[in-house]
This record gives sequence, C-alpha cells and structure tokens, in this order.
Amino acid sequence: MKISKIAVYQVDLPLHEGRYAWSGSKSVSVFDSTVVRVETDTGIVGHGEVCPLGPAYLPAYAAGARAGLHEIAPGLIGADPRDLAVLNRRMDALLQGHPYVKSALDIACWDILGQVVGLPVCVLLGGRFGADVGLYRAISQDTPAAMAEKVGAYRREGYRRFQLKVGGNPDEDIARIQAAAEVLETGDVLIADANTGWRQHEALRVAHAVKDLDVYIEQPCRTYDECLAVRRHTNRPFILDESMDDIAMVSRGHSDQAMDAVNIKISKLGGLSKARQVRDLCVSFGCAMIIEDSWGGDIATAAIAHLAHSTPAEFRLAATDFNSYVTVSTAQGAPKRTSGRMAASTAPGLGIAPRPDVLGDPVFEVF
Ligand code: MG
Repeated sequence: MKISKIAVYQVDLPLHEGRYAWSGSKSVSVFDSTVVRVETDTGIVGHGEVCPLGPAYLPAYAAGARAGLHEIAPGLIGADPRDLAVLNRRMDALLQGHPYVKSALDIACWDILGQVVGLPVCVLLGGRFGADVGLYRAISQDTPAAMAEKVGAYRREGYRRFQLKVGGNPDEDIARIQAAAEVLETGDVLIADANTGWRQHEALRVAHAVKDLDVYIEQPCRTYDECLAVRRHTNRPFILDESMDDIAMVSRGHSDQAMDAVNIKISKLGGLSKARQVRDLCVSFGCAMIIEDSWGGDIATAAIAHLAHSTPAEFRLAATDFNSYVTVSTAQGAPKRTSGRMAASTAPGLGIAPRPDVLGDPVFEVF
C-alpha cells in the first residue's frame, strides 16, 4: 500500500461566541485550520487536521503548518501509510522539529490504518475505556461576573469541568477564580489556566489567594523553572501544558514532581503516534491528563476522542470538543457532545467523512 497523493485544504472556523480571549490580551475570532487528505493506491483515503491557537500561543502558526506540509509531503509519496513509526521517522528526517506540521499527516495515516484493518483508531491506540469521555469547557477571558455567568450557562448544558482563561491582571484573576468557584457544585472541576501569562511573583500571589478554593492551577508562567518554583510554593493541584512539549520534558517534570497532570495537545507533540507515547508514559507514571489539541473542528475533535477514549478513565481529567465551539462543520461522523461528554466513533479509522463543499479546492496537492 502506497501514498499516492496528499492534498492540503484551508478552512476558516468562526466561533459561536464570536471571540476567544486568553492571557496577555491575545484573542482569536476566526480559527485558520488546515485539513490534510492522504490518498492511497488502494482507494482508501485518510484525513487529519491541525489548527494552531493563532500565531502567538505555541511556536506554531496556520500558514507555517501549510508551508511545512509543502516541504514534507513530496517526500511521503510512495511511503506505506500503515507503517506509522517508519512514516514518523521519515517525516523527522525530512524536517527537523516543527511537530505541529507533522500532526495532521500522522492522524490521516492512523485513519487509513483503521480503515485497512476495519477498526476504530481508539482500538488501535489501546481500546475503549468506559462508555464516553468527560469534557471541559474553556471560558474565554472576560470580567469575573461574565465568566461566572458563562460557567453557569455551560453547566446547564451539561459540562462539569471548566477551564478559566486567566493569566491577566492578578487581582482581576483572583476575582475571576472566586466568582467562578461560587457557581460550582460538588463534583465539578475548576481549572485556572494562565497560559504562561503571569510573572512568578504574580502567580504566587494568585495561588496564595485561592489556596482555600477547590481549583487547579495550569501553566502559570512562561518557563518550566518559573512554573516549578510556583509549584513548590502552592498547595493547589498543578497542571503543566505549554512547557510539556515533548516526551523528555514530561519525563523531567515527573522526576521533579513538577505537576499533578499534563495537558496533552496532539499537534504540540506531533500527532497521535507521539501523543500516544506521552499518554502511555503518563499512565505508567500515574500522572493524570487533559487530552485535547490547540484547536480545530470535526476532524481534530475526532482524533481527540480516539486518544481520550483509549486512555484509562481515572487518568482523564478532561478532553475537549472543539467542534462545538465553531460554527462550521468540516466532516460528518464527528463526536457530538451529550451532557458534557463525548465518545469516539465505532466506525473504522477516525469514523469521519469530510464535507467536500466545506473544504473547497485544495491549497495545494502533491502526487
Ligand atoms: Mg492550557
């Protein structure tokens, strides 16, 4: 079986809420997503998606994903898409670093492998744990009252886990966390995600002010060392995200006892193959995870669902249904949220069928 053609599409994903804002006054109104279609000489076709959270979040940007794909794709023509490890070695030889560029190609080849063997990707990644997966809802940065109101509204939609976008003015962030905590009930989970936005002294002030609230602190500062210093001075459960960008960092974080949970974003790590390695390592370490991606639509959400559903339930802090945040559907068959939860498809591969009218013409294709 050989890859015969790779086509790359660009899709705009506007938001139901109109705008998504996080630390440092950063925001996105329309997400720029990239969908990859990998065709084979057998007629089986696989799809993947990569959608950075704008250009100022991780070292990744939408046009960079497409430029990188343009660089790599010609070198994959003729490769066997079922040989995932061989394919990843080939991608790493063609382009040093840039894991997000490789993510959609890796996902598309998992989609192909699943179709070849007639099994959903979650079975290939280890099997299905439980009936479904609990989701968190990200609460865009706003006034404390507006954010608390959003938490209440999404709670009524069935979500029980909430991630507040903080990382702004520490006094206002303390008020945001306090206001949101008042809306919650027993069993709910509250995460304050600063997305690297605080200086160390600010993070320590916030962590101290909320020490009696049932809240997790996520990635308070830019560097790993700053986060570790904060971690060592707070009694709150601690999540690392932006600093945990490869398996070596997760291993180091575990050695330092730097976190209680890791945020796994598929594209940050380079695709399902490498995200699965980190996921399995975290399970072995006894470290919980949030399983998601930087953003995306139906195809990214399907990939998240397969990775999350194949993760032991007690290690899943939450996953994310990004396809419910955006107004455009790029594929049929993607997970649909029910009462704050979603399930991976039981169909072979990712279980999705892209909508050709939404994808439009490819930006480029190689064959
Ligand atoms: Mg985060």
